Amino acid sequence: MKILAVNAGSSSLKFTLFELPKTEAIASGVFEKIGLKDSFYTIKYDGEKTRKEVYLKDHSVAVDYLIKDLVDMHIVSSLNEIEGVGHRILHGGAEFTHPVILNEDVVARISKYNELGPLHNPANLLGVEAFMKALPGVINVGVFDTGFHQTMDEEHFLYPVPYEWYEKYGVRRYGYHGTSHRYIYKTICNHFGKDNLKVISCHIGNGASITAIDSGKVVDTTLGFSSLVGLIMGTRCGDIDVAIVQYMMKKTGKSIDEVMDDLYKRSGLLGISGVSSDSRDVEIAAEEGNKRAILANEMYAQKIANYIAMYNNELGGADVITLTAGIGENSKAMRKAILEKIASLGVKLDEQRNDFRGEFRLISTDDSKIPVYVVPTDEEMEIALETYEIKIKNN
Ligand code: AMP
Repeated sequence: MKILAVNAGSSSLKFTLFELPKTEAIASGVFEKIGLKDSFYTIKYDGEKTRKEVYLKDHSVAVDYLIKDLVDMHIVSSLNEIEGVGHRILHGGAEFTHPVILNEDVVARISKYNELGPLHNPANLLGVEAFMKALPGVINVGVFDTGFHQTMDEEHFLYPVPYEWYEKYGVRRYGYHGTSHRYIYKTICNHFGKDNLKVISCHIGNGASITAIDSGKVVDTTLGFSSLVGLIMGTRCGDIDVAIVQYMMKKTGKSIDEVMDDLYKRSGLLGISGVSSDSRDVEIAAEEGNKRAILANEMYAQKIANYIAMYNNELGGADVITLTAGIGENSKAMRKAILEKIASLGVKLDEQRNDFRGEFRLISTDDSKIPVYVVPTDEEMEIALETYEIKIKNN
């Protein structure tokens, strides 16, 4: 069965076509600069990459090009072969705890949460509407970044602020990267042949979060009401004292939006290092002796180590620690720095095992108290699998 996994952004639309249950990616591509004069798209199929420069007025036009090319390039023999479309949706509030079949009514309910994810949710829903129009009769499924985290208890998702902020305004921890954390959890459980593992899942990319999971249920997670908190990220600050916002407004005369913009776009690795938000650039600068780059890497690794220690405590002792996403999968230096900072948990790095990029592998020694694995994430695959499962149940 062929299933499309789609991630629509405000000016882009990424897709991967999967054959399930084989979990084989057949083709993938991205439509970029939607709405702009120099829009274009690329499709990868059969070892070749095709690029076309066409005017993509909106998401519907992009989807029309996509389904035409799927047939014209003989990726599918007819559109009837596509039996489901799974959509990444950032925010489903506390209401959408699981993937859901999308129709006009459900889309209207999801759009209530647009103000909690203003950059992504409206764009995600544009993608949904475009596919509903282009492929009528094909099941569309929404898979929420926040969904997996809705298994958290009140004790972990509430903030210690006036309770009516939660009751009246929905101020609580929602968590993000849920699709990645769920995929990692399923993958590591499959590896061990168990479904009740206690896992500390570290998603360390440009955006970053750690989730503590026990028997398939989220115990705690570092991203919160927004995607600004927790770990240090590429340009986002992670945990800071909120009083800084008011102080900086007074000191600089900046508006609240300008200060928030600094915290979202000019903080994190970029803010401390002054070099880049990209960990590769920061690593190179650190190797060359740049003091702020060295400091940024130290702070970055220490924050991750501290959360791992805290979540190990919350889980009553983790069975496995996993590292994933751009930095977790690829940066040997950052993996080493993190593991050295959790030596007090009895975790030991095997330097030889750590000498690789981008694969599923154990990187700790055999006598490490908690085994540490690198597990490449695949959010598109998870979206396709969830869509497949719903399609099968509804046949
Ligand atoms: P993501 O958001 O998951 O795409 O991750 C992006 C981050 O991964 C960036 O900070 C990249 O610098 C980092 N990254 C990707 N490839 C490598 C690599 N080979 N070595 C070190 N960091 C990498």
